[in-house]
Amino acid sequence: MTNEMKALVKAKPEVGLWMEHRPVPEIGPDDVLIRIRKTGICGTDIHIWNWDDWAAKTVPLGLITGHEFAGEIVDKGRNVEGLAIGQRCSGEGHLIGRQSRQSRAGKFHLDPATRGIGVNEPGAFAGYLRLPAFNVVPLPDEIEDEVGAILDPLGNAVHTALSFDLVGEDVLITGAGPIGIMAGAVARHVGARHVVITDVNPARLALAAEVADVVPVNVAQEDLRDVMARLKMAQGFDVGLEMSGNQAAMDQMVEALVMGGRIALLGIPPGKSPVDWSRIVFKAITIKGVYGREIFETWYKMIAMLQNGLDVRRVITHRFPVDQFRDGFEVMRSGKSGKVVLDWS
Ligand code: ZN
Repeated sequence: MTNEMKALVKAKPEVGLWMEHRPVPEIGPDDVLIRIRKTGICGTDIHIWNWDDWAAKTVPLGLITGHEFAGEIVDKGRNVEGLAIGQRCSGEGHLIGRQSRQSRAGKFHLDPATRGIGVNEPGAFAGYLRLPAFNVVPLPDEIEDEVGAILDPLGNAVHTALSFDLVGEDVLITGAGPIGIMAGAVARHVGARHVVITDVNPARLALAAEVADVVPVNVAQEDLRDVMARLKMAQGFDVGLEMSGNQAAMDQMVEALVMGGRIALLGIPPGKSPVDWSRIVFKAITIKGVYGREIFETWYKMIAMLQNGLDVRRVITHRFPVDQFRDGFEVMRSGKSGKVVLDWS
């Protein structure tokens, strides 16, 4: 092993990322060293690339970016048990504290001291990643590396979709980005009746229909009420999964839900967003904010579902060797792609 590696770094306070040579990270007694094989480009990485207000106040300059990865354990600290050199793995990119009430109650995903790899701490867009052994998720043989590299966003989709019981329910998903599309596949896999996914981007809706057995609706062209009538839905949708952060989509969702409907919110509105709260009160709607993945219950469920027929591979629309990372980011920024995977091997 050489002691230098390639890494995609936020080197300057402007648009872009830069490939640099960095030392391979040193690991502590409770860490493993992972050789990265594949990484996924996330919407978060696009914010960092674009260097928008959020990125500028969150991400330290010089940081190695990236948090969606699959790789192989090549070294481990002296305290690490139960993991072997050569083990293929992905991992939870949220590094949690152990002091908070939530952590001590085992609700690790609710720890307020969480730090994210590739956002606050050195990330996975690199030849090697240091990760606490606690965060490692071994990959079974049937999950290939490129699917391993998108388990982080699939985990967002699974966490959101499994927020409420979907068996026999009619589900509305607003926002046909990769996470919305994968949430549609999950909803169908766990037994939802109708899954309708809305967007205004035809390419994304076409991809949704290709990946999952869902009804794509372009709300710029079609009225959701007509779709509901066509599907013979008596009252409305039972569950809404909001993935867009778009205010019009949220309004549409509240209108399209049954009395007593439930909404899981993953999409992030820009700034403060006006909400018709009285409508939500009078419809007796339950709203749940969703952040990250349940550590490690979501990981367990998603791997079990992938082993049991859930297939999201087609959401990966583009693959690039890492030296062509600019092409990967360009296609992501075009809004005309599903997941984009970079190959580091
Ligand atoms: Zn991500």
